[in-house]
Amino acid sequence: MMDGTDQKAANLVLLGPPGAGKGTQARMLEESFGLVQLSTGDLLRAAVKAGTEAGRQAKAVMEAGDLVSDEIVIAILRDRLGEPDCAKGVILDGFPRTTGQAEALDRLMTETGQGITAAISLEVDDNAMVARISGRYTCAGCGEGYHDTFKTPATPGTCDKCGGTEMTRRADDNAETVEQRLRAYHAQTAPLIDYYDGKGVLARVDAMADIDTVAQELNTIVAQAVA
Ligand code: ADP
Ligand code: AMP
Repeated sequence: MMDGTDQKAANLVLLGPPGAGKGTQARMLEESFGLVQLSTGDLLRAAVKAGTEAGRQAKAVMEAGDLVSDEIVIAILRDRLGEPDCAKGVILDGFPRTTGQAEALDRLMTETGQGITAAISLEVDDNAMVARISGRYTCAGCGEGYHDTFKTPATPGTCDKCGGTEMTRRADDNAETVEQRLRAYHAQTAPLIDYYDGKGVLARVDAMADIDTVAQELNTIVAQAVA
């Protein structure tokens, strides 16, 4: 891990449609660079599970594949960003997803004297996303992500990371919801590629390549961001 004193705190945004590989790559970057992965999808699923007011409001919206309101998501993200571990830098996975969220993030960063070091767009073809999402599953113990075809554990049914044997699939990972999530991505999130390009912090990565090839490209970009 490169999170010694020689490493700068960097705040990274991973952009890309559902299934692009944001979570997979964020976890690998977290391990390599000691940055903290912040997934608003994970935070919202935890709120749904805990039955909080925000979770109750978000549940049906998530099941339909629509975006949860900026108000709810920004409040959840702000709370998490305020926790001490985030001071070493974060990898935002699935946030921001609207221009309103991007502007709120800029304000939050400015308040704490920070900024977005790099926004990395994982570029993929829409028609590959249904296969990626419908084959996705996760270790219930540690959250490690797998895929029926593209990323299988060394021993079938057993997590490589924690040895757990309970695997879960997300309720919204079905073909119908994927189409709606892709529509939401193109209408509301894709414009953020230009938003960050305009700020001079955008990097584009071909995320149709295999997981390790994408990881190598990201490592190079992030190594520069923390240097
Ligand atoms: P996101 O967080 O962007 O929604 P994930 O990281 O969960 O996407 O990846 C979606 C699924 O595709 C997972 O099952 C993951 O194992 C698999 N996957 C991720 N990156 C790739 C890749 N480059 N090639 C093939 N499959 C991938
Ligand atoms: P994800 O885990 O990133 O695929 O997100 C799952 C679902 O959570 C999305 O389809 C949205 O309903 C909701 N969600 C996650 N992040 C956001 C966000 N930044 N803004 C709005 N909705 C979000």
